[in-house]
Amino acid sequence: MFRSARLKLTAWYLLIIMFISMSFSIAIYKVLVSELERFVSIQRSRIERRLREGEFFPPEIHFRGMLPHTSIMDPELVEEIKRRIILILIAVNSGILLVSGGFGYVFAGRTLKPIQDMLDEQNRFITDSSHELRTPLTSLKSAMEVNLRDKHLTLKGAKVLITESISEVNKLQSLSDELLQLAQYQKTQDLAKFEKLSLANLVKKAIRKIKPIAKQKNMLIQNNTLDIEIDGSKHGLCDLFTILLDNAIKYSPEKASVTISSQKNDGSIEISVADQGIGIDKKDIPHIFDRFYRTDVARSKTNAGGYGLGLSIAKKITDIHHGSINVKSKPDKGSVFTIRLPIHQTARITKPPFFS
Ligand code: ADP
Repeated sequence: MFRSARLKLTAWYLLIIMFISMSFSIAIYKVLVSELERFVSIQRSRIERRLREGEFFPPEIHFRGMLPHTSIMDPELVEEIKRRIILILIAVNSGILLVSGGFGYVFAGRTLKPIQDMLDEQNRFITDSSHELRTPLTSLKSAMEVNLRDKHLTLKGAKVLITESISEVNKLQSLSDELLQLAQYQKTQDLAKFEKLSLANLVKKAIRKIKPIAKQKNMLIQNNTLDIEIDGSKHGLCDLFTILLDNAIKYSPEKASVTISSQKNDGSIEISVADQGIGIDKKDIPHIFDRFYRTDVARSKTNAGGYGLGLSIAKKITDIHHGSINVKSKPDKGSVFTIRLPIHQTARITKPPFFS
């Protein structure tokens, strides 16, 4: 598909270039021919005038195609010059056709590359998502089918099945919510609308959201963030802090503490979320921001649910904000996720100053 689109685009480039080139060639031909005819007619009237005045013409004039008694310049020579002009213009246009064909093909490839990348990314997203949704749906379906075939299924057993199914459906719901969230941030990458926000308020809002989970694990969240005004998307930044705090709690033992702090640098702010949890192995660090990636430790040692989408959403949000996210971690010691964001997003603010 990409190849045929590339060829079509090349053909369009060629058509446009050749149309311009041919138009110029026709114009050049017309100008040259009219100049030639003008020259012939000037020469003719000059020689005719001299002849009338009885001037003598040396015989060599006859040998240069000049016929003083008739048309002054041999019409065959004029036609020959015209033919030559046409041949030169055809040669020049053929050269332009060849060169622009090559360049057109290269440029068409470059023009289509981002579209191709986007389509590949979308296809990967659909394939990964379908795969992730298919697995729990299949196990849910088979559990129901097995129980339905069971002639001795009791009311108690049916209730257990329904409870388990509801919990599976809840997980599927949170997976579809995360997928929607990821798709939304993917879509708004170039259309992000920023406003002036209070960092302290954003962090407080994120902490309020995850406080119930922290409470379940008797965990303490220390908030050492500065009250500074930054440009950003209110929902995006709140989601970003919530994801990092949620992970810090999910992957920490009970009664551990999580700290969120900030540090202002020249034109940017660093926000760090530190935990004392299971940590991340060195080999996993390059992959944790990939979609659906979960470390083996997270899968096996903890009963923390998750689909490996949180950090890819977090990465998308920092990208939208022209920032960066990175992690320092030691297995069994803990992790520190650090986000660096520009304080001002030049020429991207669409609303008047506003505090969330
Ligand atoms: P999940 O929903 O599985 O938490 P994420 O994309 O948020 O998905 O995280 C990807 C993986 O990175 C997790 O499965 C976990 O293995 C690892 N991870 C993320 N945050 C932490 C953390 N604070 N401590 C230890 N491991 C983490």
